Amino acid sequence: MRWTLDTGWHGREVRPYGPLTLDPAAAVLHYAQEIFEGIKAYRHADGSVWTFRPEKNAERFRRSARRLALPELSDEDFIGSLKALLAQDHTWVPTPKSAADECSLYLRPFMIASEKFLGVRPAHEVDYYVIASPAAAYFKGGVEPVSIWLSSHYNRAAPGGTGFAKCGGNYAASLAAQKEASAHDCGQVAFLDARENKWIEELGGMNLFFVFKDGRIATPRLTDTILEGVTRDSVLTLARDEGLSPEERPISIDEWREGAASGEITEVFACGTAAVITPVGELVTEEGHIRLAAGSDNPIAKRLRTKLLDLQYGRAEDTHGWLTKLV
Ligand SMILES: *Cc1c(COP(=O)(O)O)cnc(C)c1O
Repeated sequence: MRWTLDTGWHGREVRPYGPLTLDPAAAVLHYAQEIFEGIKAYRHADGSVWTFRPEKNAERFRRSARRLALPELSDEDFIGSLKALLAQDHTWVPTPKSAADECSLYLRPFMIASEKFLGVRPAHEVDYYVIASPAAAYFKGGVEPVSIWLSSHYNRAAPGGTGFAKCGGNYAASLAAQKEASAHDCGQVAFLDARENKWIEELGGMNLFFVFKDGRIATPRLTDTILEGVTRDSVLTLARDEGLSPEERPISIDEWREGAASGEITEVFACGTAAVITPVGELVTEEGHIRLAAGSDNPIAKRLRTKLLDLQYGRAEDTHGWLTKLV
């Protein structure tokens, strides 16, 4: 689909995958006026194909669009684009061989400023696309706990910035920290707040949860420096369903360190569409490792993960009305 200042959205079409033609002066290549989404299509046992809470992604895409001064897309166009692509390409949605087979079709909607214009202002010509790729489980090790690097030189987001928007620029800014993580054998980076370097925000592309020994489960309260994950929101609801007490509040790096040492914190996990729910085994920092004293087997993370996957793959009743049929 294409948007122009004069005409609005038009030119809805599905066409074969292939390279784009962009003018070298296209604004996105210079000023990063770009946003994206990530959502999956799941094949159910009866062969039908479903997606999970797409109206949440549509709403977030509009939030991101407003922050990046891009035009907003309606629910109808956003969800309609997924349906239009799947009507054509549904055979690319893999069929799980068992409940342990977390295959899906990953969908990547994105919007770019395509106007050729080197001046600095919101583009008057914008393109929207959605591409897809079959995907297996995100982490090769399955539900094995992962090691996370704590970034102490870089922040992902700052107050008043673009942290809450899903934009390529945030990811570009996180790559130097990602490189540090790799050098320390960590797959992901945890970021602290930019003002005090004290409050836990999230990973480069996943939200964080902490499980306490008394059944409380906490995630950092949303601010404009945290990306509101659809998985995060779903975990809060599923945790309540499971009789846990979810909390959204500030969590400091000291609370993590002390809670891990004392056994007060029994599990830490990361969550997002790509990796679902993944236990965090240790936090690697410049001052040493933070490991859970309990050496947890992560029962809560595993239970929530199974609940979420059973819903997404149609193995459990959709009591929250979270599924939308695509094909
Ligand atoms: C996409 C993303 C998440 C996870 O969001 P989901 O909707 O759960 O996939 C978390 N943090 C960041 C920075 C993200 O870009």
